[in-house]
Amino acid sequence: MSWYRKLHWQILIGLFLGLIWGLIASQTGMAAFTLAWIKPFGTIFVNLLKLIAIPLVLASLVVGVAKLNDITKLSRMGGKTIAIYLITSVFAISIGLTVVNVMKPGKTLPLETREELMMSYRDSVEDRDEAAGRVLERGPLQPLVDIFPENFVDAASDNSNMLQVVFIAIILGIGIIQIEKQKGEVLVSFFEAFNDVIIRIVDFIMMAAPYGVFALLATVIVELAGDDLGRALELLAALGWYCLAVVIGLLLHVSIVYTTLFKIYSQMKFWDFIRGIRPAILLGFSTSSSAATLPVTMERVEKNLGVHEEVASFVLPVGATINMDGTSLYQAVAAVFIAQAVGMDLSIAQQLTIVLTATLASIGAAGVPGAGIIMLVIVLQAVDVPVEGIALILGVDRLLDMIRTAVNITGDAAVSVAVASSEGKLVMGNYDD
Ligand code: ASP
Repeated sequence: MSWYRKLHWQILIGLFLGLIWGLIASQTGMAAFTLAWIKPFGTIFVNLLKLIAIPLVLASLVVGVAKLNDITKLSRMGGKTIAIYLITSVFAISIGLTVVNVMKPGKTLPLETREELMMSYRDSVEDRDEAAGRVLERGPLQPLVDIFPENFVDAASDNSNMLQVVFIAIILGIGIIQIEKQKGEVLVSFFEAFNDVIIRIVDFIMMAAPYGVFALLATVIVELAGDDLGRALELLAALGWYCLAVVIGLLLHVSIVYTTLFKIYSQMKFWDFIRGIRPAILLGFSTSSSAATLPVTMERVEKNLGVHEEVASFVLPVGATINMDGTSLYQAVAAVFIAQAVGMDLSIAQQLTIVLTATLASIGAAGVPGAGIIMLVIVLQAVDVPVEGIALILGVDRLLDMIRTAVNITGDAAVSVAVASSEGKLVMGNYDD
């Protein structure tokens, strides 16, 4: 197969051309044109991905659970999944804290830039602060209550209710096991066929991925740069150390924590793993949304990494909702960066508080663009760092969001391989497209 026929190369070309278009458009006064005529295609692409997420999770998880010959397996798998998710998040935050304390990016931020950023992002900070306030107003057990839907249609009507859909699929699957075998088989066949249809639709949508990614990237660049690319580059340069700290942290996390996870749990080579999920990583990067990427992550993990549907259909939707290693690492770096920039030294106790709150904040963050920075407000409040400080990092947040989302997706997929392998549910994958 010629290289350019491979999906990940086509997506990469789309990414690259989108970047070039965005740069040219913001230099030549074509920003408004891009927003009016190119951005909508990116939105359509993301909408299509979101459209199939809930039916896919429902159908594949019902089948997965209904085919389990032993229900205790489900709770064992659930416990293992949550435990690995928590442990990898704590490692991510610790790596983030180490990198930011060693590099001290906040100390290098010139005073003038600080003042200027605080002024220009003041309104945007207020929005984030209010959104975080709404999260805090909810009771401590509200996230638990939110898993149990009161209405089936309501649960399926909003992609942010993914855990409710997971819950419905599990009880439906368990119900199917309990009824007369013949009747149960009818339902299993139905959901199996439905699942196959959705997977076909994922394939169709992915044919449009290179174009969708082009539109998304062009839009991101134009929205960041507006009609003044020079200003955007200046901002990037001023926050260069901070961005570098986040990126180094993320790279260390992927190369240390996930490779160790593979060493412990599976024989899969790390590079084969990356090859298998390349398109999902690239889509995560372009959409900044683990929730929108979920259908592709599920397809790649099952088809290319050889993770059994029983495992993937549970571990991945749960991961897209609660497991965000990239986000938690970024929150740790950002919190300490802001503290450093405003001249605060955080004690060990405060840094431990960051470990706790960033773990919770990443669990609470939705898999959508910009969710991480809203939950960062909660981390900052816990260690008494002024919330207004997020003005310092807002300008580059979208770029970092793209990278941390790619890591979030990689983390979900890595854990699904680990869980599948430990449950004897991993077969040899076909790592290439
Ligand atoms: N965009 C991220 C995700 O979807 C969440 C975040 O903002 O960090 O995984």
